[in-house]
Amino acid sequence: MAPKGDNVVVSNIKLERIFSMKGGKGEASYANNSQAQAIHARSMLHLLKETLDSVQLSSPDVPFVVVDLGCSSGSNTIYIVDVIIKHITKRYEASGIDPPEFSAFFSDLPSNDFNTLFQLLPPLANYGAGSMEECLAADNHRSYFAAGVPGSFYRRLFPSRSIDLFHSAFSLHWLSQVPESVVDKRSTAYNKGRVFIHGAEECTAKAYKKQYQTDLASFLRARSKEMKKGGSMFLVCLGRTSVDPTDQGGPGILFGTHFQDAWDDLLQEGLITSDKRDTFNIPVYASSLQDFKEVVEADGSFTINKLEIFKGGSPLVVNQPDDAAEVGRALANSCRSVAGVLVDAHIGEKLSGELFSRVEKRGTSHAKELLEKLQFYHIVASLSFS
Ligand code: SAH
Repeated sequence: MAPKGDNVVVSNIKLERIFSMKGGKGEASYANNSQAQAIHARSMLHLLKETLDSVQLSSPDVPFVVVDLGCSSGSNTIYIVDVIIKHITKRYEASGIDPPEFSAFFSDLPSNDFNTLFQLLPPLANYGAGSMEECLAADNHRSYFAAGVPGSFYRRLFPSRSIDLFHSAFSLHWLSQVPESVVDKRSTAYNKGRVFIHGAEECTAKAYKKQYQTDLASFLRARSKEMKKGGSMFLVCLGRTSVDPTDQGGPGILFGTHFQDAWDDLLQEGLITSDKRDTFNIPVYASSLQDFKEVVEADGSFTINKLEIFKGGSPLVVNQPDDAAEVGRALANSCRSVAGVLVDAHIGEKLSGELFSRVEKRGTSHAKELLEKLQFYHIVASLSFS
């Protein structure tokens, strides 16, 4: 057996230790660059509500427990948890049952900026002192107990049979690691000359697909232990319409064109070596419906209520579409808010700044094309556990 390169293994363990969206509230932070996700989430609320209608309501004597997996540090997660709890409350009331207390867990990797998230949480309504109706009517208050849970959703996070509803948006396309073969020079899957699988060799794409399916299987196994009988899951992640994984669609444009070219710029300017570029890979996989479905069916613990590919729209939110500089800036900020932490770790913050300024420049000169072509699709899955 070929010896495993120690450095490769270490760098893969590190991914889950260091990865997060850009924290804080600065220009390139996730909190400031997640309006597109907010818009996409709102366009899918009718699908979320269908899932909420399928959750079995538990006895009002025990708390109803909601989890958002991959919550990050913006306000999107708070908005969604609020929608979920208000909808479930209405369902209790419609069946003539007093709603239970609610508990919401915000979960993400340990490096997530939980402080920023907690500061965005509205104060707890005066639970217990008034009726649930009063709690819900109190605007700018939350009607649930909140807690943060650090850890990878590819492993166990909660006690057995303790969760009623899992929600996860725009997170499951992040792999637990870049597949080892993709950064191994001796392997045919070595992703030479590229930082993403868009347009890569078939072998490289195969390694990514395998990693995605292995990760998704681990995710489902963990959730099937944690979920209460009758519970449901609403999952949204990047998807693609092509059967060919080397055509990653919108994410392919985001990470495989100007971002890719910016790495090549640094190389040509002598700021990095080709090895440095080739050992960086974006650990994202936009899956097809088929890739996703195979894993859910093989796991066998969940019933698929809905599984579809949904057009999300552009990841760039700009005020002046005719202003090419604004489009370039939006591209750079959007890329940096999600991948900046990984780039910083690979080449340091200074070179990372250089890289994203080139992304911005290239984005500015292709602004019109970007606005036309950069479109995301999402896999939307509603699964229940019985
Ligand atoms: N759901 C939010 C944020 C999506 S950003 C929204 O709708 O805006 C994706 C999030 O997934 C990031 O915060 C990232 O840290 C998290 N993530 C990626 N891989 C993860 C893993 N293995 N375990 C837990 N969270 C993960």
